[in-house]
Amino acid sequence: MNHQNNLWRSNTRITVLEYCQKKYYFNYYTHSLKEIDEKLWLDTLMLKHLKSIEMRVGEKTHHLLSDYLKFLKKWLANQEKIDELKKDIAQIMIDEFNISKNRDYEAWYDRNQRFWLSEHYYKIDVDDRLQEAINKVTNNLDTFISSEWHDKVLRYFEIAPSTYIESPKRPDYENMRIIIDNIPELLNVCILASPDFGVIMWENKYIIIDRKSWKENLDDEWVPDQIKVYALKMLIKKGEIELKDLDIKWYEVYLPSLKEIGWDITAKDIEDIKNKIINDINFQKQFIVDWDVEKNIPLPHKNFNRTTSAKKCESCTFRKVCEDLKSFE
Ligand code: SF4
Repeated sequence: MNHQNNLWRSNTRITVLEYCQKKYYFNYYTHSLKEIDEKLWLDTLMLKHLKSIEMRVGEKTHHLLSDYLKFLKKWLANQEKIDELKKDIAQIMIDEFNISKNRDYEAWYDRNQRFWLSEHYYKIDVDDRLQEAINKVTNNLDTFISSEWHDKVLRYFEIAPSTYIESPKRPDYENMRIIIDNIPELLNVCILASPDFGVIMWENKYIIIDRKSWKENLDDEWVPDQIKVYALKMLIKKGEIELKDLDIKWYEVYLPSLKEIGWDITAKDIEDIKNKIINDINFQKQFIVDWDVEKNIPLPHKNFNRTTSAKKCESCTFRKVCEDLKSFE
């Protein structure tokens, strides 16, 4: 069954919805702008593909580490390979930066064009930040390689019966999503979750490592929702819905600081996240016609409120189209 158009729930979606309803509308219901104004729709499609240079650092670090881990798993990650990976990512970043900088953003949206920086769209000069961005990405790999985590991961490759490395360049959405159809509120809703790196030590013992290069989680006591969703996904894949005999150990490792936080997932975490997902989905459903998750048709744009925080708007990629939309309200 194809669930492509169904309502999807991911931590990113919920974060965006809580951040600003209008931003959520631009990002996830872009196609509905076509009926309002074609230019507005195409501009929004373009903006949707742009990211800030800081976000590109996170994205490219993710790509580089994933490529590196794949070579490490095959015992091919020697110094020559590391240098080659770093050189390749630097070249990719330079090429994409130049395409982005020289792009005519007034031109009609073309899905075959490459997209890169929101700064270029908004005519902000970031030439002097490219090398710094490349250095951050390659330094993140060096930091990881010289950390004790590197040795632990290597050991897992040696002894664990099964390991998983995410492929962020080619996300496999089918594999990333879960459908929880034994909870009526979640019927036909796609739940998206995929960690960076996982190890199955033996049948009932899992170790998961998620790398972060964003804001550090300062509250170590609570397991982040994202991690609970991953754990729930693993249970469901095993055909279970409650945590009984599964031992799941979770780590978040930050780059470049190497701060790490670890948790053991408890049965209460699983119960909490099921309730949280139900609440999130009920919130998302308020913005679709007839609460119909399969059709997933958004309410008219006026039903999506703008944030009242000017600070949020200052850095929002959609600020141009958000202003344009006002003339259709
Ligand atoms: S510019 Fe402000 S109000 Fe508009 S979508 Fe972005 S955050 Fe929301």
